[in-house]
Amino acid sequence: MKKGEIYDGIIERVDFQNKGRVPVEDKVVTVKNGIPGQKVRFVINKKKGGRMEGRLLEILETSPLEKRDPVCSIFPACGGCMYQTMLYEDQLAMKEAQLRKLFDDAAGYEYTFEGVKGSPVEFAYRNKMEFSFGDEYKDGPLSLGLHKKGSTYDVLTAGDCRLVHEDMNKILLCVLDFFRTRGVSYYRKMQHMGYLRHLLLRRGSKTGEILVNLVTTSQEERDLELLKTALLELDLEGRIVGILHILNDSLSDVVRSDETRLLYGQDYFYEELLGLRFKITPFSFFQPNSRGAEVLYQTVREYIGDTRDKVVFDLYSGTGTIAQIAASVAKKVIGVEIIPEAVEAARENAAMNGITNCTFLADDVLKALDHIEEKPDLIILDPPRDGVHPKALPRILDYGVEKLVYISCKPSSLARDLKVFEERGYRMEKCVGVDQFCQTVHCEVISLFVKNK
Ligand code: SAH
Repeated sequence: MKKGEIYDGIIERVDFQNKGRVPVEDKVVTVKNGIPGQKVRFVINKKKGGRMEGRLLEILETSPLEKRDPVCSIFPACGGCMYQTMLYEDQLAMKEAQLRKLFDDAAGYEYTFEGVKGSPVEFAYRNKMEFSFGDEYKDGPLSLGLHKKGSTYDVLTAGDCRLVHEDMNKILLCVLDFFRTRGVSYYRKMQHMGYLRHLLLRRGSKTGEILVNLVTTSQEERDLELLKTALLELDLEGRIVGILHILNDSLSDVVRSDETRLLYGQDYFYEELLGLRFKITPFSFFQPNSRGAEVLYQTVREYIGDTRDKVVFDLYSGTGTIAQIAASVAKKVIGVEIIPEAVEAARENAAMNGITNCTFLADDVLKALDHIEEKPDLIILDPPRDGVHPKALPRILDYGVEKLVYISCKPSSLARDLKVFEERGYRMEKCVGVDQFCQTVHCEVISLFVKNK
């Protein structure tokens, strides 16, 4: 088998995350972006340590697991909802098998695997979406939506994206129409020229409150008064509480603000989870699937167990959601989070919810552990995708707490960390998947670690 050669084969299984196994001749090639049972054509593009990798070129035959038609118009080019042609129950069964295998391979000891809990809503679950301006093909008409899979340039208009509430689709189409009819330019990453960059939409699924954030460069001055009017005239189920014009001249493709102009209303919105209220600002992290997050946090609470007289550390605390949920069953909770705005919001939210036994520190987890005088009885970890910093994890485990709850949005990072836990005398007693991202390849995991007696 050589690089550049083209083969056909059947995906016999998809391992976590998105790793299709295709047996060809006496070898197994890893091909991403497929579903078990599909007959695919792929080109060999990499050889990594004896493992063969192929890039999917074409799906020759659909899989028996694909029991329904695509649910949106930009499938499969968009690539966000890889599993949308599978029934949700089949998606869950597949994620369950994937996680079991991932942890069986990594653990090497007995643990309880409690399956995968589904999201209460399968569609329209996202409370946040970041759309890009661009064109669908070179010099095509203005588009607004999601990047074509594998492309940094082509943007597909996501006017019927099923991951978000219809209100968001209506807003997207309204904004696109406004700028298309006026022939406004989009920002070209290579030339650093142009005006329109992103449309960041957030919508509380419980409250229906919507925050519209238009992100542009400062290369043009445009009157956005009529856009505001058009948006406020839309027939929506929820309600727009704020329209922000965010100026961003940074060369990198991340959404951030150099200057924020309030076009209408306020620069925050509220969402509710498990009876608690949270104020959310345009850039602060909040679990993207609100109803799914309730299942996640409820399960975290069960995993924490009885902590009435205990001091709990909530590391990587974001806007303090987990800390506040743990607060009702703990003596004291200390949250640590690196983004000052998120810490600010966490404090404000705790006060608003009448919670008085939480404190939040704005610091890097690695450094914060040096300053905190209290010793924890229990630690909750919810790190970003890359997992806990290799230097921070041993420090955390040195506290020697009896129980640790680890929430992972990237189970392969957790699987990697299992060894470090084991070296320090911990083993994973149980874990459970909580699907926050229906139709996609992702899955959240909660695990309970206990200290060996
Ligand atoms: N527990 C929260 C947030 C989890 S996301 C929730 O459920 O909503 C992970 C968080 O870790 C993010 O808010 C991110 O800003 C923060 N973070 C990333 N690196 C960090 C570090 N080194 N120290 C502290 N916080 C960090």
